Amino acid sequence: MSRQKIVAGNWKMNTTLSEALFLVDGILSKMNTTNEVTKIIIPPFPYLISISNKIGETEHISLGAQNCHTDESGAFTGEISASMLASVGCSYVLVGHSERRCYFNETNEELIKKIKSALDNNLKPIFCIGETLEQRQYHTHFTVISHQLSEVLKSFTDAEFSNIVIAYEPVWAIGTGETATSNQAQEMHAFIRKEIAQLYSQSIAQETTILYGGSCNAQNAQELFSCEDVDGGLIGGASLKADDFCKIAASF
Ligand code: PEP
Repeated sequence: MSRQKIVAGNWKMNTTLSEALFLVDGILSKMNTTNEVTKIIIPPFPYLISISNKIGETEHISLGAQNCHTDESGAFTGEISASMLASVGCSYVLVGHSERRCYFNETNEELIKKIKSALDNNLKPIFCIGETLEQRQYHTHFTVISHQLSEVLKSFTDAEFSNIVIAYEPVWAIGTGETATSNQAQEMHAFIRKEIAQLYSQSIAQETTILYGGSCNAQNAQELFSCEDVDGGLIGGASLKADDFCKIAASF
């Protein structure tokens, strides 16, 4: 079964405009755009239009946003809606990144609305899940992941779910330099696929792209991506260097 392979670079709150454009130029000049891996650039909001114009119609490179609001429009000062993101060329949006769950107290109810709004605007949500170090140490990580999936995904039809990408990002591995071993990643990705089969169906689960995120870099990507149920990566720190991001995207 060939699932869509994805490598997505989440720049978080990094780069100035000139640094962002320099980074995109580097990625565009070094990236292998002939392979079938979808590369997604996820910069800060203010740079989306400029980067969208640079990417243009380049094959296998897409634009994503780091967040969206639950509503379409209205009196929500400082917020950005999914329809706005679509109008500037985004095709993907992160939903439920652990930094947003933790620092901005995002709830499952909000995540459901954000995913709905993204789907209504033809954006593919990259739905992030992951356990904390404490949860893993107390051996509750499978239960935590199971709840994170079922509480949110119960709200979507099969057709809607086919446009959702899952990113498994153990919180203890994000930005820490401590990567999950390939055994830990494969074990959890297989579990996630099994849970999706229960929530939807076996065939839908087999088609779902499940990304690994958490200190994935140019040195460890190949081993992680060689796992049967790992379909690519959501990359933070290492996506801020064009060379590294391009090497990771070539690690299949
Ligand atoms: C992330 O924040 O999505 C992430 C995976 O970060 P890092 O690669 O820096 O651990």
